[in-house]
Parts: sequence; structure tokens; C-alpha cells
Amino acid sequence: MCGVNCALAPCFLSGRCRGCRSEDPRQKRTSKWKCRIRRCVLERQLNHCGECPEFPCPTRGSLDKRYRGRYRIDLAENIRRLTALGPEEWGRQVQADYTCPSCGGCIDPYRRTCSACGRPMD
Ligand code: SF4
Ligand SMILES: [Zn+2]
Repeated sequence: MCGVNCALAPCFLSGRCRGCRSEDPRQKRTSKWKCRIRRCVLERQLNHCGECPEFPCPTRGSLDKRYRGRYRIDLAENIRRLTALGPEEWGRQVQADYTCPSCGGCIDPYRRTCSACGRPMD
């Protein structure tokens, strides 16, 4: 919804979260219930912020800034790519970007290292 790819998130991979689309109340990670971006996208009945005429809006500001500063991830650019490519192709490209060239494992986008072999992301 916001440009984060849930499928790469450690909390999703560990089963603590089922992704922002899930309404399952049994999932352990609860922060998404308070997310203003998620709520806004759902209230507007959109798939993601790229479908919104107000994008990029102030509601996204602090998340965009935090991801750029802390993780070097540009969520607004992710949204632009998602909008241009469509969800299937975007998902394929992101998966490829975060596949470890050494072992084929999943690169943790937050630690910027391979979760399987520990290789740092290029
Ligand atoms: S761009 Fe802003 S206003 Fe539009 S759906 Fe996303 S959070 Fe809501
Ligand atoms: Zn690896």
C-alpha cells in the first residue's frame, strides 16, 4: 500500500505479520492497525498510494523520510515504479533486486545483508 514490499519484511517471513492487506486479528505484529497510510488507502478503496491523486501527501511524509534516512529505501520511488510496472512485474523486480547473488537467499532490506549467508547488499 505504501511502497514497502511486505513479502521481504522479516516480520512477514517469520509469520509474525501476514502483510498489510490481511485483517487477521491473530497475527502477532500489531503496528499496522495504527498505520495512517494503511487506513487511508483502505478508506479510499485503493490498492496503493500510486492510485491516489494526492500522492505524495503529508500523511506519508514521516514514513518516507524515515525509510530514506534509516534504510536508504525510497518508498515514493517504489510507489512510482509499482504504478508504472503493475504489481506483478514490480513484485518480480523487487524480488530479483533482493535475491542474494551468492546463495539465492533473501536479502533483508533493513539490514542490507543476506538473511541466509550474511553477504552485504551491493
Ligand atoms: S497518497 Fe496520502 S492521501 Fe493518498 S492514499 Fe496514500 S496516504 Fe492516503
Ligand atoms: Zn546469501
